[in-house]
Amino acid sequence: MTVDGTSLLMDPGPGALVRLVRCGDAPGGVDAIETVLLSHLHPDHSGDLVALLFALHSPLPASEAPLRLFGPPGLARLLDQLRGIYGSWLHPRKRRLDVTEVRPGDVLPLGEGGASAAPFAVSHAQDRLSEVALGWRFRDAAGRSLVYSGDTGDCPGLREAALGCDLLVLECSTTDEWDVPGHLNPTQAGAVCAAASPGRVVLTHQYPNAAALDLSALVGRQFAGPVEQARDGDVYTVSATPRKEPA
Ligand SMILES: [Zn+2]
Repeated sequence: MTVDGTSLLMDPGPGALVRLVRCGDAPGGVDAIETVLLSHLHPDHSGDLVALLFALHSPLPASEAPLRLFGPPGLARLLDQLRGIYGSWLHPRKRRLDVTEVRPGDVLPLGEGGASAAPFAVSHAQDRLSEVALGWRFRDAAGRSLVYSGDTGDCPGLREAALGCDLLVLECSTTDEWDVPGHLNPTQAGAVCAAASPGRVVLTHQYPNAAALDLSALVGRQFAGPVEQARDGDVYTVSATPRKEPA
């Protein structure tokens, strides 16, 4: 993801690095990665941290820029425990590692122009390493906003953060027949969209049984705005025309 020229790698789950390079968004490979944001510490959102740090341990990457990691409380402990297994293999050879644990309500400036990233609390139980799962709201200097739900059930924090955003990247993990706490099915996702009224919705984090469905149509039963079902390699751009936030 790029916000006003700041490149961000969000939730590097397994395979994220390979897909990032394949999609052409990181022509410098791992050298292009300077900031990584995590929503929570489940392996499907953080597994490629090991691959990234091991790649940076190799002598091949040239960048000497610090690698900045931001994530929920418990991130430092996760890294400590991974180092307990892998030791020096996870030490970047040329780059300093800056790890920052963030909490709901924090606001991270992105660059000098006024863009920001702000974590918010979502409903997704964490029973080890961390008790906090986050969504992220991004805002550029022109006021355009993208909200990433992370993994979550329907909750006030998500509805509030997503209210009137330009693009809502919303998890839709399950089918209506298989309700999983801490995740959304199409009916629940539709209710969130109807309440938050985003300019556009992209549905992501689809389990295989959900991915086989026409999720856009199912969410569209409750939400009249544009809804798309994300596929690997898709690229989305937030509209150049900022929407007015609802009163
Ligand atoms: Zn999760």
